[in-house]
Amino acid sequence: MQRYSFFSLARNALSYHEHWQRAWRSVPLQASYDIVIVGAGGHGLSTAYHLAKEHGVTSVAVIEKGWLGGGNTARNTHTIRANHLRDASIKFHDKSVKLYEDMTRELNYNILFSQRSMVDLVQSSSKLRDLRRRSMAMDLHGPTYNIVDMQEVHRLVPAMGDLKSVRLPPLAGVVHPQAAMARHDAIAWSYARSADERGVEIHQQTELTGFLRDADGRVTGVRTNRGDIRAGKVALATSGNTSHVAAMAGLRLPLVTRNLQAFVSMPIKPVVDVIVNCPDTGVYLMQSDKGELVIGGATDPIPSYRQGGNFQVFEEVVAAMLELFPRFKGLKMLRQWGGAIEFAHDASPIISATPVGGLYVSTGWWGGFKAIPVGGLTYAHLLATDQPHPLADQFGLERFDGLKFMIEVGLVSQR
Ligand SMILES: Cc1cc2nc3c(=O)[nH]c(=O)nc-3n(C[C@H](O)[C@H](O)[C@H](O)COP(=O)(O)OP(=O)(O)OC[C@H]3O[C@@H](n4cnc5c(N)ncnc54)[C@H](O)[C@@H]3O)c2cc1C
Repeated sequence: MQRYSFFSLARNALSYHEHWQRAWRSVPLQASYDIVIVGAGGHGLSTAYHLAKEHGVTSVAVIEKGWLGGGNTARNTHTIRANHLRDASIKFHDKSVKLYEDMTRELNYNILFSQRSMVDLVQSSSKLRDLRRRSMAMDLHGPTYNIVDMQEVHRLVPAMGDLKSVRLPPLAGVVHPQAAMARHDAIAWSYARSADERGVEIHQQTELTGFLRDADGRVTGVRTNRGDIRAGKVALATSGNTSHVAAMAGLRLPLVTRNLQAFVSMPIKPVVDVIVNCPDTGVYLMQSDKGELVIGGATDPIPSYRQGGNFQVFEEVVAAMLELFPRFKGLKMLRQWGGAIEFAHDASPIISATPVGGLYVSTGWWGGFKAIPVGGLTYAHLLATDQPHPLADQFGLERFDGLKFMIEVGLVSQR
């Protein structure tokens, strides 16, 4: 594989960038593979990469109904963090942040990783209690989550108004220095390139339409719009569509799917250099390298597979943001989009074998961009060894049999 570097950039500039190698191959579809991964989003591609790298499993096809990285991986607001409550979640997401920190070097691809910290603005005493608890839990495992007073909050977020007439004035802030942003397309493209280099095949425009089963009901392959493919194992990584896809195998998963939207303002001079998050109102914002404010909020109140805007949510998010940042009132919105994200009933991920033999699932990624590196690492381990990775052994489907939920905090207000 061609190495990307300052020198290769300079060399290719001299030949008008006409001689770059293709980043990944386009090869004919084979009749069978050891593993077929369904969905070439960040999770499917990261899984393929780790299967090849750590386990030497290269008879792998990643099939994608659209183009790679074109699902929620293309639609998210790319915040990365590890400020969770449960031991298992903190360790899992902390590992992901560490993998992100090293990804540009490991995959030889500039992912534009920007570790700029997140400031949570706490607007109620109940939330402050809740976050204090989270801060203690995180302290046991490494990632930092420090409660700071309002003077420090104003120093970190000088763009905020004076807040005298605000309905819910912030009481304190909580700072999470490990929080970061990274270029979302680069995550998909870098994993695709490195997986391809190791022999994995990526087949775009290849939609799973059903499953091949043997007499015992075990999944032995997939039906696609380009023909049948036999597989030793089939691994779903179809965020936003998993309930629907699993139903084709007669499997009902404890998931709810909802539309989540985000929007972007016109570009302005640098005014915010941290990620600002308001857990009480659900609003968050950050400024992109291009100067646009990237703004997000809560999901639609009702389940659906929609991928678009919702004016009621938009209005609520903007109203809550303008209370704290009245100077953003004159900003014009440039674009807005949405994606269908899916939540497990306890808001924790599911990385698991299923009751259907030969079929595996990685889902529950309502904030799953941050978990792409560790999600792929642990899913690959499960697929290669049939044993859960120690970092994901709490995320099996069996936890829903006996109400052994792993209720994670961020989501509870959204259900
Ligand atoms: C507006 C918005 C903002 C977000 N912000 C953040 C954030 O700031 N931080 C964060 O951590 N997360 C965020 N998320 C969530 C994040 O985007 C997802 O959790 C993450 O992208 C999931 O990655 P994935 O690889 O599982 O899914 P995807 O990237 O959606 O990949 C799944 C792929 O499966 C394919 N597929 C589906 N069905 C089939 C089929 N039948 N056959 C073949 N292929 C199929 C799809 O086409 C898709 O490409 C946000 C999501 C949205 C919508």
